[in-house]
Amino acid sequence: MTFVIHPAATPALPIAGSDARFPVRRIYCVGRNYAAHAREMGKDPDREPPFFFSKPGDTVVGDGITLPFPSQTQNLHYEAELVVAIGTGGSEINADAALSHVWGYACGNDLTRRDLQAEAKAMGRPWDLAKGFDQSAPIGLLHPATDIGHPDTGSILLLQNGEERQRGDLSDMIWSVPEIIAFLSTYVTLAPGDLIMTGTPAGVGPIAPGDTVRVEIDGLSPLTTRFGS
Ligand code: MN
Repeated sequence: MTFVIHPAATPALPIAGSDARFPVRRIYCVGRNYAAHAREMGKDPDREPPFFFSKPGDTVVGDGITLPFPSQTQNLHYEAELVVAIGTGGSEINADAALSHVWGYACGNDLTRRDLQAEAKAMGRPWDLAKGFDQSAPIGLLHPATDIGHPDTGSILLLQNGEERQRGDLSDMIWSVPEIIAFLSTYVTLAPGDLIMTGTPAGVGPIAPGDTVRVEIDGLSPLTTRFGS
């Protein structure tokens, strides 16, 4: 095959304990997936089906990176999230079988230009440029499920310049990882290399130039991102 221009490089994530890398295809994100407070009992009768948006695959950046402060925003927000990496594709995947499609897990930060998102919501416009801008998906070292299993409990938190801003538990997710995979795979065919960002706990807020933001999830390598001016 001869291309008329150089094809883009394949975006990829480093893997814990290996020199090999995980090639990234698409990044799907789940909207609002943590109740503001732990549900006190049983199932939430008000829960609606999950909704999804996406970021281009080449928005991934790794751990320990200093990012230029994004353009066109006065209100850049952090969102600490568990990232699921798909190793085996499929459509209409049953929740019972969904975890067998997961290759591994990582810490992620769903960077959001909140002002652009608010404007898009108000005007009924798409979220693409509020969510899918350059380098909008910092993601940490990917841990194979063969090493760590499938975490469905444990703390998820975000520190901004060392101060805790977000704290939740993976068990607070309204839709579990198997349920998310089952829903999402009715809309699109998932493929190896797809990532799913599974939503953020309460406590999101603005990032200022010069800030250091760190995402920590029990059992995973933390993700640190610095912001330049
Ligand atoms: Mn998010």
